Amino acid sequence: DDVSDGSKSFKGHDMLAPFTAGWQTTDANPLVIDKSEGCYVYDADGKKYIDSLAGLWCTALGGNEPRLVEAAMKQLNSLPFYHSFWNRTTKPSLDLAKDLLEMFTANKMEKAFFTNGGSDANDTQVKLVWYYYNALGKPEKKKFIARNKSYHGSTLISASLSGLPPMHNNFDLPAPFVLHTDCPHYWRFHLEGESEEDFATRLAKNLEELILKEGPETIAAFIAEPVMGAGGVIPPPATYFDKIQAVVKKYDILFIADEVICAFGRLGTMFGCDKYNIKPDLVTLAKALSSAYMPIGAVLVSPQINEVIYSQSNKLGTFSHGFTYSGHPVACAVAIEALKIYKERDIPGHVSSMAPRFQDGLKAFSDSPIIGEVTTLCHMQALILRDHDNSYELANFVAGVGAYFGAECQKLGMLVRIAGDIIMMSPPLIMGTEHIDEIISKYEKALRATEERVKE
Ligand code: PLP
Repeated sequence: DDVSDGSKSFKGHDMLAPFTAGWQTTDANPLVIDKSEGCYVYDADGKKYIDSLAGLWCTALGGNEPRLVEAAMKQLNSLPFYHSFWNRTTKPSLDLAKDLLEMFTANKMEKAFFTNGGSDANDTQVKLVWYYYNALGKPEKKKFIARNKSYHGSTLISASLSGLPPMHNNFDLPAPFVLHTDCPHYWRFHLEGESEEDFATRLAKNLEELILKEGPETIAAFIAEPVMGAGGVIPPPATYFDKIQAVVKKYDILFIADEVICAFGRLGTMFGCDKYNIKPDLVTLAKALSSAYMPIGAVLVSPQINEVIYSQSNKLGTFSHGFTYSGHPVACAVAIEALKIYKERDIPGHVSSMAPRFQDGLKAFSDSPIIGEVTTLCHMQALILRDHDNSYELANFVAGVGAYFGAECQKLGMLVRIAGDIIMMSPPLIMGTEHIDEIISKYEKALRATEERVKE
């Protein structure tokens, strides 16, 4: 039995640490993943799991996509590495930049800068924005506004931008130039009788009040995920981004779209910005950019920012920033192939066509006495646990039951992501009907087992 104390409190389970990458030791008896095949992974003992989280929201094309492997091998054989400093670069890096700039159409983007992943891409955003305002002669524009429950990474700056207390507690974060505004989770935070539109209006008003209190001349940029991922799969309420963008624009504040999870079809559109009509000044990408076969992230910048940075560069000096592996040719070669596949196979269209089956299957769980909310947004989904008859202390209930549910899924051969009271999924985008049916059936079994355990 996975619940250690056997009491109704469900206390004492250990699957709670939400953002722990784990020290690499065998002490904690970790699940060792050894092999992948399409939408499945296998552990070191050969047990098969359906990977309902696509690794970590990232292996969009699943395991063993031969075209990605071939692209990597070809590049490794011709040029495994060269850097992209001092006006030197490589062809894959240039080609990937061109492809991305053509592909992102929600707003025109002019340049791409490559990083190792999402966290350092968001750090890059902060430095770019500061540099931009310095170049414009507005050095007082220094502050960033992010949202509660957002996740933007683990480095000092990206963890500061994140709106999750475990990313700040015990680290003296957030940094003082980062402010947080409301989480747009309608289900959790709306007032009684408040419509989604009214909720969005209230949040936009709160944002405006925060800007006015701080002084608009001090606010540099606003950063948002189109749909919040690690904070719990939180969709924007109706009209939210229209209203937020109007406020941000009014006070000359840049908009950074953190597309690390949403990009490349997860929401049934190529980018999250397409779905919500977001017109960002800067875009952050990572994860599915290479379907996670190689580590790579990217920052896209608008023509306006590019022009200021480069026309003023003689006064300020160069934008001194870059990583050894920025534009790594093997990662870029894999990403170029991944983008080709997203387009050729119309992955966003495929995701849209699969979405109703997923949605119907998951929504059927709404009746469970331990489910409070079912969120399904194409291939980002969450079940939120709730104790419907209030017989347990909530904090203990959600923590212990979530962990129990996750452990049941794992026993059944399915990997999910648990964060307190939330069970999250972000499956590979290539899933077919048989995979979706398998996931729903395993969820159902795990849910029934958990309901029984709660009753005991
Ligand atoms: N931004 C978002 C929205 C993310 O979900 C993540 C990672 O989950 C990051 C940034 C950080 O990316 P990485 O882990 O590649 O540094």
